[in-house]
Amino acid sequence: MILPPATLGMLGGGQLGRFFVSAAHEMGYQVWVLDPDNNSPAGQIAERHFCTAYDDFAALDEFAAGCAAVTTEFENVPAATLDYLAKFIPVRPHAAPVAVCQQRVNEKNFLRDNGFPHANYRAISSAEDWRDLPDDIFPGILKVARFGYDGKGQAVVHNLAEAQQAFAQFKGEVCVLERRLTLDYEISVVLARGANGEVRTFPVAENRHHRGILDVSIAADGASLADADMVRAAEDVACRIAEKLDYTGTMAVEFFVSNAALYVNEMAPRPHNSGHYTLDACLTNQFEQQVRALCGLPLGDARAHSAAVMVNLLGDLWYEGERYREPDWRVLHAIPNLKLHLYGKHHARPGRKMGHFTVIDADAQRALALALAARTAIGIGA
Ligand code: ADP
Ligand code: MG
Repeated sequence: MILPPATLGMLGGGQLGRFFVSAAHEMGYQVWVLDPDNNSPAGQIAERHFCTAYDDFAALDEFAAGCAAVTTEFENVPAATLDYLAKFIPVRPHAAPVAVCQQRVNEKNFLRDNGFPHANYRAISSAEDWRDLPDDIFPGILKVARFGYDGKGQAVVHNLAEAQQAFAQFKGEVCVLERRLTLDYEISVVLARGANGEVRTFPVAENRHHRGILDVSIAADGASLADADMVRAAEDVACRIAEKLDYTGTMAVEFFVSNAALYVNEMAPRPHNSGHYTLDACLTNQFEQQVRALCGLPLGDARAHSAAVMVNLLGDLWYEGERYREPDWRVLHAIPNLKLHLYGKHHARPGRKMGHFTVIDADAQRALALALAARTAIGIGA
């Protein structure tokens, strides 16, 4: 076991890294962050911020020399960086599961090869791949295989001609073409798996998206659209995926439910936006669980003590027409069972995740109603 006051390494410095730093600090650890952004949210609060590229090997040598173990908050860290660090210190998760989750073709092939349910797809890397497309792949979504997030690098396509046009627009980058499902709803399972194989799942969240970006997560039985059987099935699939990947750390599996059937959408080899409610509603949150898995501690109890509904705060909220101004946080602070989290990002851009809030309540319906009312009150439109 790695115990305090050891120093832990974090690759990536966004809000997920920032919450990891907070959790680690609470537990008596120090944290070094490596991230190329000078104002990185995690770098601001870590003991040290290595402001450099992920493939700066001289910096990685110094990083490895000072850290007892290293983890990541960003699936696009090069697998070569994780492999390199693993020569010196424990790296959790390993490079192999990160490499599966960071490239959509690898991810889909993993699902197919292991019999996990997923939407029909075809990997597209050249003109050859358009031959013999199954008819039922349309209407489809063309997604770039790497570096897509929050719906970026995706195009809805209704036929071959549109698909080829979108592929050209993505400049011939490797893509996945997948069937666009009619969604009943979306859910996610956030879980932690220890180095000894112990697994704990957090309560399943129902996720509502707006323009491809997570908007509201509902971890409140009775207010969520997900029924108990579907939740159990999703938990079972997520745990089997974590086993198959031999995953160590916190991870998330996103699911679609379409015509009452369950499909895996994608996996994230890190804590997840839909697990932010665990900060305020669970005995152990997803970031503490990441610290525990990294350090070889037993996992904490992941139970929720209340119903919770989380709402994302995007940069759009900072704009009143053309005018840039801070939202009126007093509106949210007036609600005593609402927890506001802001990530310390220096500039708001439309679509950028700037913060979130979570409403905690004993009653699921009340939590949802209050969260949606607060969402409107702070100025988020339909
Ligand atoms: P990201 O990496 O941006 O999260 P996703 O593949 O999860 O990309 O897509 C973002 C959202 O777009 C999904 O949560 C879902 O709402 C919608 N979406 C993506 N793929 C499909 C699909 N095959 N069928 C229906 N909706 C989809
Ligand atoms: Mg997604």
